[in-house]
Amino acid sequence: MEVIPLINQKGGVGKTTSVINIAAVLAALSYRVLIIDMDMQGNLSHGIKEKSNNAHNIFDVLSGQISLEQAIHRTYLPNIHIIPSSFNLATLEIKDFSLLKQHLENVHDRYHYVLIDCPPSLGAPMILSIVASTKIIIPSQCEYFAVKGLVNLLNLLKRVERQVGKQMNIAGVLPTMFDPRSRIMRDILQKLKQGLDIHVFETCIPRSTRVVDSNSYGQPIVLMDTNCPASQGYLLFVKEFLNT
Ligand code: ATP
Ligand code: MG
Repeated sequence: MEVIPLINQKGGVGKTTSVINIAAVLAALSYRVLIIDMDMQGNLSHGIKEKSNNAHNIFDVLSGQISLEQAIHRTYLPNIHIIPSSFNLATLEIKDFSLLKQHLENVHDRYHYVLIDCPPSLGAPMILSIVASTKIIIPSQCEYFAVKGLVNLLNLLKRVERQVGKQMNIAGVLPTMFDPRSRIMRDILQKLKQGLDIHVFETCIPRSTRVVDSNSYGQPIVLMDTNCPASQGYLLFVKEFLNT
């Protein structure tokens, strides 16, 4: 079972959209996928329709009230299960940052992939997710401030590595909302590839207005409109990711 958080402390870079669509592509390839909403904004839980009456969420698990299995909800996509988030995550006090990792060990034979949607901050939910990870994906837009933010994120990862005594496996940076006609974006992508000591995926997810619609409808764009450039991007990305 691979545990893959999508992290970036910068807001609005496409973390949630990427979790939804990567999960949908993996599910279409017959993999069993669990997605976890670690962001108290709860966007992931809105972005993919649930199909159960379970009231439990990830806060109940991390605060020791229930097991992780009890917080799993079915979605309308048979191969995708979800653990929703809660506003209470803001009050979460964590003593042991391997808590999520320990909980996930109980479902290791039920899923091929666990994708974790992280909030745009360097707090406890992100650190729990990093410690639980087997691979990390960093969605990022090709903008000047995004590149600066990535340097801070890589420093945080190094600090967590020192604290837990384990090297993190960063699969790479996934460029999102990319416009190939923009010279600035092309330049920044080049800088990302050359300037940081980190893998950058070849596939970029193109910007496309249909993505915003799909999130409002609670459906992955890859299922709503296969021909949309962003859908093609996510299909190609998963192919590239599975080959790395
Ligand atoms: P946050 O940090 O607030 O959780 P996020 O990193 O999860 O944000 P998303 O919510 O996935 O980012 O995306 C931010 C906005 O950009 C949303 O309105 C989403 O619909 C839009 N968006 C995401 N990907 C694309 C794309 N490829 N093309 C156009 N719009 C996109
Ligand atoms: Mg989000």
